[in-house]
Amino acid sequence: MISRDQATKTALYELEQQREQNYADERRHVETVRAACPEITSLIDERTKLFSNGVSHAFGDPSNAMDISEKLVADMDRSNRLIRLALHKNGYPEDYLQPVFRCPLCHDTGYVGDLVHDFCPCVRQRVLKIMMSDEGLQDLETQNFSTFDETIFPDHPIPGKKHSQRDLMLLVRNRLEQYADSFEARSGKGIILSGASGLGKTFLMNCVAERVLTRGFSVLKISAYRLYDAVRKYQYDHSDAELVDDLIRADLLAIDDLGTEPLTRLSNEQSGLYYILNERINSNASMIITSNLNNMQTRERYGDRIGLRLYDGSRTSAFELYGEDVRRNVRK
Ligand SMILES: [Zn+2]
Repeated sequence: MISRDQATKTALYELEQQREQNYADERRHVETVRAACPEITSLIDERTKLFSNGVSHAFGDPSNAMDISEKLVADMDRSNRLIRLALHKNGYPEDYLQPVFRCPLCHDTGYVGDLVHDFCPCVRQRVLKIMMSDEGLQDLETQNFSTFDETIFPDHPIPGKKHSQRDLMLLVRNRLEQYADSFEARSGKGIILSGASGLGKTFLMNCVAERVLTRGFSVLKISAYRLYDAVRKYQYDHSDAELVDDLIRADLLAIDDLGTEPLTRLSNEQSGLYYILNERINSNASMIITSNLNNMQTRERYGDRIGLRLYDGSRTSAFELYGEDVRRNVRK
């Protein structure tokens, strides 16, 4: 798991590299023109002389500095216009000698705003990209609240159920959005989404993960199988130690498909999964979990100590999804 701080450092470092690249491009452009075109070379030299003369003139005559600088601006404009014309005439783009940058908002400084310096949107987007490219978070770009489409869920009544599948999904979606928008680290508040395969549990979990991540919290998403495997390796030879550390420390741990990991011959309390769940519950660290198991099945599989605490209504909102498998309805 990569923290927002680390991702921001990476993004700013990339921008620094970009600026160096920009300067190198600018120098190369000037050298290219100088080598090929004496006409433009002399125009550039004239402009340089014009500028340094104007500045020293203004410093030497402070009472007339205003007039001098106005004239300098006009002279520079004229000089720049001549250079652009000459560039065009010689087959170069008119802005060939202008400063090079990729982002028109921040000119690759990474910051916008005059008084209060704020990160440019290009940095924010890059930070999210970096965080999402991390383990398990690649899906979040396509699976989030703004891409949630309730129309793929059937809207007909279901015998014995209060809501159609579509209504239920909308209801759950809205509750989860509230959860994500008010998420706080170490609040202990969690979510369990249970139900059969193909009902959209993982998609909903991704929506929450994306929103919480966007709000600046650290999120680690992992399948129950991978979690089981990581802790087993860790217990065996201390490999995967970094991941196990993240599993405990992430603001939000999203566990996909609880119950699909292999059953262990160890007693529950010796199993790695128990260790992680227990650590997080004890430190009020939040989890969002998808599972094919319902409340009773969870208790049967993991024992009452974990089962009861996972489903403790004072900390966990549990949603049992029902209806038909919609995976074939998803538009590709
Ligand atoms: Zn920018």
